[in-house]
Amino acid sequence: MTREGILLIISGPSGVGKGTLCAALQKDMPELSFSISATTRSPRPGEVHGKNYFFYSRSEFEAMIKRDEFLEWAVVYDNLYGTPRQYVMDVLSQGKDIVLEIDTQGARQIKKRFPQGVFVFIVPPSRDELANRLAQRGTDSKEEIERRLNLAGQELENAADYDYIVPNADLEEAVQMLKAILVAERCRAARNRVAIPGF
Ligand code: 5GP
Repeated sequence: MTREGILLIISGPSGVGKGTLCAALQKDMPELSFSISATTRSPRPGEVHGKNYFFYSRSEFEAMIKRDEFLEWAVVYDNLYGTPRQYVMDVLSQGKDIVLEIDTQGARQIKKRFPQGVFVFIVPPSRDELANRLAQRGTDSKEEIERRLNLAGQELENAADYDYIVPNADLEEAVQMLKAILVAERCRAARNRVAIPGF
């Protein structure tokens, strides 16, 4: 059997736990690749260039846009974020699966080019819980948290455009759901060329 690589797109409001979920998924499914986005926002304490993000100046980022080096890019909370094209294309061409953790604007762009992608939207148990998680992260000001909560409301309206909704009330359960989605998508007939030895 040979199978094409899966492009798994994960979106969800800021603070919903996408980063933690992706880290847990990577641990459980080490064969998965994860795209590292480029951004013009400043690193948060502990974030490392080339691991969490590629941190660029606005002019560096704009030069990359001009050179058409992004698969998608978008303005999120006044900063630019984008998915470097080359790495994703290399991984997919090897028949491997890759995860993109991007916002809803980026997901829309990807859907146009890769309708066969798997689009997953992570939702919080409640607005209060999302507010708690953003506050606990301790990286954003009160105003920034309020702004992210308001944007979360708008983002949730896009959830119906996705293929799957995963509630993140319990991390372990949410990881299990993501794994189940991937396992099922890997078995999708349209993704597989059947070649059974002996037949
Ligand atoms: P944060 O600044 O909290 O790391 O991310 C802010 C938002 O930007 C999140 O919704 C995240 O999914 C989104 N984001 C991260 N990387 C990319 C990217 O490469 N492209 C797009 N369109 N959004 C991204």
